[in-house]
Amino acid sequence: MSNDQNPNQIRRKFLKLLSGGAVLIPLTALHGCSGEKDAPTATSAPAPKTDKPAAQQSQTAPMEKTSAPASDKPMPRLAEDDPQARSLGYLHDATKVDTGKYSRFEAGQACKNCALYAETDDAQWGGCSIFPGKLVNADGWCNVYAPKG
Ligand code: SF4
Repeated sequence: MSNDQNPNQIRRKFLKLLSGGAVLIPLTALHGCSGEKDAPTATSAPAPKTDKPAAQQSQTAPMEKTSAPASDKPMPRLAEDDPQARSLGYLHDATKVDTGKYSRFEAGQACKNCALYAETDDAQWGGCSIFPGKLVNADGWCNVYAPKG
């Protein structure tokens, strides 16, 4: 490279370089003056205000609200002519048990004092694990009777 360029050539080169820089300077200045300085950043942006704890904000509604409501329909009463009831000698009235056929029956035995009986709001009808989904009579009896503890 030679240093024998005349001052005019050097000045033109300098101005050429300067004009290239002059294009770059406004671009960087635009970035700095674009208002982004005032825009919220990830560290300065406040979290949206809510009454819910953070753990619940991204969750959907609880399952209880979306699932079908429990049925309020009462359980049906066990019929004496139900095949399973007949096979176990179930009767609504224990005093009518055929003691010749069901020798293990003893006076005083009834569903209400059987270990498998489950009381309900209805004093006369309750649940029984032998007949799921059906109510048996508190004064009833069947051959599976088991005295309470
Ligand atoms: Fe009644 Fe007990 Fe028989 Fe159930 S198991 S039907 S409660 S006697």
